[in-house]
Amino acid sequence: MANTTLMMIKPDAVENGHIGNILEKVTNAGFQIKALKLTQLSKNDAERFYEVHRERPFYGELVAFMSRGPIVAAVLEKDNAVSDFRTLIGATNPEEAAEGTIRKLYATSIGENAVHGSDSDENANIEAAFHFAGRERF
Ligand code: GDP
Repeated sequence: MANTTLMMIKPDAVENGHIGNILEKVTNAGFQIKALKLTQLSKNDAERFYEVHRERPFYGELVAFMSRGPIVAAVLEKDNAVSDFRTLIGATNPEEAAEGTIRKLYATSIGENAVHGSDSDENANIEAAFHFAGRERF
């Protein structure tokens, strides 16, 4: 699984019509789409997905944001997927993100930052299983 990461296109980017632009940047960067769907997290789903941030001051805001509308979830494959995808999306805060990164182009704020990318191979595995059944992955 070292070549796999889990992406979410967050509700802000879906609302702003950026699904196609983001998928194009992802595939142009050499990632293969191994699973893909439009879905919506319930409040409980978002609480579980972001459990590690439960004690952070922005947890409630993050859960409300991530469950307010549809997202796109995808499993992506590429050598060095976790690290290369985090480079492609840029820093958490779009004001600090490098030019040309997905967050620099499409994020609105540190909270509403357009995309999620797994932060480790272990979490990529857990997050892919959170969103996709085996028969939805190719
Ligand atoms: P990431 O790995 O770059 O996504 O960043 P983190 O793991 O630190 O945070 C997870 C997510 O929580 C971020 O992508 C943001 O959506 C949100 N977040 C992080 N910091 C803040 C903050 O200071 N305020 C708010 N409202 N949301 C934040």
